[in-house]
Amino acid sequence: MAKVIVLGAGTGGMPAAYEIKEQLGNGHEVVLINEKPEFRFVPSNPWVAVGWKKAEAITIPIEKYVSKKGIQFLCGRVESIDANNNQLTVNGEQVDYDYLVIATGPKLAFSNIPGAGPDGFTQSICTLDHALSSYKDFQALLENPGPVVVGAFQGASCFGPAYEYAFILDKALRDAKIRHKVPMTFVTSEPYIGHLGLGGVGDSKSMLESDLRHRDIKWICNASVDEVQQGKMNVSEMNHKGELDSKHELNFNHAMLIPPFSGVDAVANVESLCNPKGFVITDEFQRSPAYPNIFSGGVCVAIPPVEDTPVPTGTPKTGYMIETMMTAIAHNLKSIIIDGAEPSAKGTWQAICLADMGDTGAAFVAIPQIPPRNITWYKKGKWVHLAKIAFEKYFMRKMKTGNSEPVYEKYILKALGIERLEK
Ligand SMILES: Cc1cc2nc3c(=O)[nH]c(=O)nc-3n(C[C@H](O)[C@H](O)[C@H](O)COP(=O)(O)OP(=O)(O)OC[C@H]3O[C@@H](n4cnc5c(N)ncnc54)[C@H](O)[C@@H]3O)c2cc1C
Repeated sequence: MAKVIVLGAGTGGMPAAYEIKEQLGNGHEVVLINEKPEFRFVPSNPWVAVGWKKAEAITIPIEKYVSKKGIQFLCGRVESIDANNNQLTVNGEQVDYDYLVIATGPKLAFSNIPGAGPDGFTQSICTLDHALSSYKDFQALLENPGPVVVGAFQGASCFGPAYEYAFILDKALRDAKIRHKVPMTFVTSEPYIGHLGLGGVGDSKSMLESDLRHRDIKWICNASVDEVQQGKMNVSEMNHKGELDSKHELNFNHAMLIPPFSGVDAVANVESLCNPKGFVITDEFQRSPAYPNIFSGGVCVAIPPVEDTPVPTGTPKTGYMIETMMTAIAHNLKSIIIDGAEPSAKGTWQAICLADMGDTGAAFVAIPQIPPRNITWYKKGKWVHLAKIAFEKYFMRKMKTGNSEPVYEKYILKALGIERLEK
């Protein structure tokens, strides 16, 4: 009997545990470890931050549901991994594994920028706790309207949620009839609006610029934030050579910027497992070249950058990619453990994303993720807003039922007509 540990029960890890259990059956043990007892659906955090969604709607207890499928759940933060001896330490105890699947998501590297993050002076929507705390700051903004800064710090790789939050916040402020009292600035390390860490997708530049213009949101690109203080942000705007072009001092009553991501400490500290940023290096089968019994998927894996930018940016890892990585891991574990065969299943490097804009939305598709591409496709409409609401519903239902049907394959790709696009 093989024992597989899935470390991290987020957007990637919890479905992975279900799918691995389904592939391996009852003859093998699957243990899911997560630092919190609940699963939290990260993509809905921007809605929580303006009070459109309650935390309970995107949170479910992990053990109650995974135990129905014969998966053990262990709640605790993994402090270290001894990859040479197939052991990890959690809650001060050693736990053995035969195979380890790392799905620990990102470490939020606010500490790279003085004064950044919820321990400093800017808000975050990267975790549910951050989004809830940001909601309090939003409520204070309603009481005391003033300038707002939204965007992504230097080194960030996840730009979609920054745009989402800017547009959602704009809508929430219009609903509250105080938008005219809130000057908004979008501050981003991207070289141009709509770059998205992907070198742009179709007309994402002109369309997102147009949307920002229509909503009276100014922007600063190639931005490197020097320091944040209470109600004030010092920003250096660079030119295309990465040299200083101009300095900005932005006052704010509310600021939310996405930080750079790195790998979580317990994973980053394992010798030869990760790249210098602490992201797990994997081969095309999501397997570590250094430790063949370790697999990894989700935001914690290393992926190649799309291109150099004057201010550092990274490449996003989005839901469809994560879903396919996890499916590949489940099939590869079956090949190794049950069939005695070599792994052969691969994830995809395709970026397919739905970005909510409050009352409308934008969908983009980049196939492959790195240009030149076979397909670049970007479209806007209220249907994206509705699709995003439906996506959350399907995903939460999947986490409760434990079915392993791929949400992106079954719903999103069909809705976008991607199968047709690929032909
Ligand atoms: C605000 C936001 C919105 C996003 N919206 C979208 C979107 O709309 N569409 C899209 O495609 N992508 C989106 N993404 C990108 C991506 O899909 C999400 O970040 C997704 O949650 C990543 O899944 P993951 O499993 O890799 O990491 P996570 O979902 O972050 O899960 C990691 C899990 O590991 C646990 N963990 C970490 N370290 C340890 C440890 N040492 N011990 C125990 N447990 C640990 C964490 O507590 C967490 O539960 C968004 C990202 C953010 C930040």
